[in-house]
Amino acid sequence: MNIARTVDVDKVVKAAKSYRGVVHALKYKYLCSKPGQNLIKKWIEEEKIDRIVVAACSPTLHEVTFRGVVEASGINFYACEIANIREQCSWVHEDMEKATKKAIKIVNTAIEKVRLDEALTPISVPVTKRALVIGGGISGIQAALDVANSGYEVVLVEKKSSIGGHMAQLSETFPTLDCSQCILTPRMVEISQHPRVKIRTCSEVTKASGYIGNFKIEVRARPRYINEEVCDGCGECADVCPVEIPNEWEMNLTTKKAISIPFPQAVPLTYEIDMDHCIECYKCVEVCGKRRAINFSQKESYITEEAGAIILATGYDPYSLEMGQEYGYGKNMDVIDGLTFERILSASGPTHGEVRRPSDGKIPKEIVFIQCVRSRNQEKGVPYCSKICCMYTAKHSLLYKQRVPNGQAYVFYIDIRAGGKGYEEFVQRVMEGCGVIYLRGRVSKVFKEGGKMVVWGEDTLTSR
Ligand code: SF4
Ligand code: SF4
Ligand code: SF4
Repeated sequence: MNIARTVDVDKVVKAAKSYRGVVHALKYKYLCSKPGQNLIKKWIEEEKIDRIVVAACSPTLHEVTFRGVVEASGINFYACEIANIREQCSWVHEDMEKATKKAIKIVNTAIEKVRLDEALTPISVPVTKRALVIGGGISGIQAALDVANSGYEVVLVEKKSSIGGHMAQLSETFPTLDCSQCILTPRMVEISQHPRVKIRTCSEVTKASGYIGNFKIEVRARPRYINEEVCDGCGECADVCPVEIPNEWEMNLTTKKAISIPFPQAVPLTYEIDMDHCIECYKCVEVCGKRRAINFSQKESYITEEAGAIILATGYDPYSLEMGQEYGYGKNMDVIDGLTFERILSASGPTHGEVRRPSDGKIPKEIVFIQCVRSRNQEKGVPYCSKICCMYTAKHSLLYKQRVPNGQAYVFYIDIRAGGKGYEEFVQRVMEGCGVIYLRGRVSKVFKEGGKMVVWGEDTLTSR
């Protein structure tokens, strides 16, 4: 049914048989099986065949199998071509007549190709024993450490001024409620001291050329206007800087100076000047004094790195403000996303871990979590489940209850997807042990009334 459902295989065989140069064409149900493979060997031996075309599934599945068969029969490994009449034909067509015609064309094309194929011999080429990792979050850091600890050099490219990524912003991790930074920062220190790792922050990959084993990667480094080798991270410059701007690392819950580091454990611990906001008063230069770490003449630069492998660990971005507009996200300060709540929960965050409303700093006595926002939602988002947010919400509601024991947390959910070691138990603990009320249903409306946020939704289990 895989191929024969939409392709008349007998017709394809008949057409192949009459194609010029074809000695043998046959329909066989499981050509990849041992008897099927033996059949190919038999033809090659008995009929002196020197080229083979297998009209079947994608070459990614069995090309090596069939090429191995021809090689074992004394023909060059590459004298076997696959005509993909499954993924590129039967699976994507419904009309049998048209699909059959297309299958015949695919087979003919493969025959013409195999006719011209020359015998090839695999060669060995030197490989650059060095890797480049794009992204300095926890995935990139761990990947780089794994490669470096295996004895190879690594270049880690991160576009922000520090490595650490989103994990540095989180409070605790589920299901063990470990402190996120306590897991992350030892790895940040380890990688910064690793003799085989070069960290390039404020940098982005702009171009990559070459091939597997030997890549040339162009990296653009933007100026941070501070000399990394000289800056000791004392922070005196930020103390005197008169310019305050929104702190995006704190999800704009606080401000930062025009010269700043994202967080105290930043790696490298080198400040950066935001030239879009700097008023060039040079107070920072004055206080930095003889160290002369600040350099306003720094320019953008391009570096070419060589690597045999590239690892992408580019992470994620939260939804844009427009994405949650139906819930007032982006319009009402007290409608926040998960990452903002992480900063509120975090001991190093703007409220030192106390749950307070962004609008007026008051402790919210009731809090509503909305799950599946734009997930499992064909019309407004993506049809698939984002897989982590049931656990993420359970963790958030548990941490809220820890911080505000007399407060009430509600969770609107569709169903709970907690697939992982200890996950189901964690959700049960939150539902039954912490008094968090789970309401099965979607939220229909969020609005402000009398200084409070009001959330309307249907509880489909009680029909209320
Ligand atoms: Fe200290 Fe100078 Fe670095 Fe600012 S730039 S943190 S003042 S060393
Ligand atoms: Fe801040 Fe720019 Fe003045 Fe330095 S020169 S103190 S970064 S405003
Ligand atoms: Fe996220 Fe749970 Fe909804 Fe899946 S079911 S999208 S994990 S909240």
